[in-house]
Amino acid sequence: MTTAGLLPQQEMMTLTPEDKLREELAGVITWHARNHPRNLQKELGPSEVGHPCARKLVSHMIDAPTSNPGFDPLPSEIGIGYHARLQEHFDNENTRIGRQRWLTEARVEPWPGLTGSCDLFDTDTGRVIDWKILGDASYKKTSRKGPILSYQRQLQLYGRGYERQGYTVNEVALAVLPKAGTLAGIYVWIAPYDPAVAEAMEARWVQLLTMADVMQVETHPERLAAFETADENCQFCPWFNRTPVGPYQCAGHGN
Ligand code: SF4
Repeated sequence: MTTAGLLPQQEMMTLTPEDKLREELAGVITWHARNHPRNLQKELGPSEVGHPCARKLVSHMIDAPTSNPGFDPLPSEIGIGYHARLQEHFDNENTRIGRQRWLTEARVEPWPGLTGSCDLFDTDTGRVIDWKILGDASYKKTSRKGPILSYQRQLQLYGRGYERQGYTVNEVALAVLPKAGTLAGIYVWIAPYDPAVAEAMEARWVQLLTMADVMQVETHPERLAAFETADENCQFCPWFNRTPVGPYQCAGHGN
């Protein structure tokens, strides 16, 4: 029986052609979003290693079974499409001005083995720029309080990646585009480039790897509870569950 108390065949019969088409379209989008190589990749990148929760990072390291159901892929699909369009604009801008001022979607390696793709680098100013395309609630929160720690660290890691390639990096910037707004609403946050941030992230990563190994967390997942937690978007964490069952699930920071 379905949640509505109908057998699947009965439920199919109650669907209108519009319902069926919506389900088919959404199904294709969901399947391809979930099976896109970018979303199947398990290695953590610069957008993830700076997360302040050590327990979350160690859960990733041991590939712990997740509990939070997958989210509707539409917001991230919009973000991916938007990024591709912005890349096109800045590539075309290089052509228009006749020189390679803007580096778009370049691969960077903040430390050996940690790779990622940086949205934009301005070679004139030595400034790293990362786009975020945010929905209303996140946009308002970010423009009021500034970027979350993960975003700030991500930018500094990109800076380190460019520096390792021989570029002079002066600043890092976040440019937040409101998903439902106009260009006048772009929120910009700029900070000086600080290589010490990336160095601290690398040292923390190595320390967590070592601790996970020494504590044999993979075979003793109950030891995940010994790792420090932090409050940053717990509701989106793959291991979040308000009423956790078993050693992998987590009720969120402070619970
Ligand atoms: S739910 Fe929150 S506190 Fe728990 S592991 Fe995930 S990020 Fe950390």
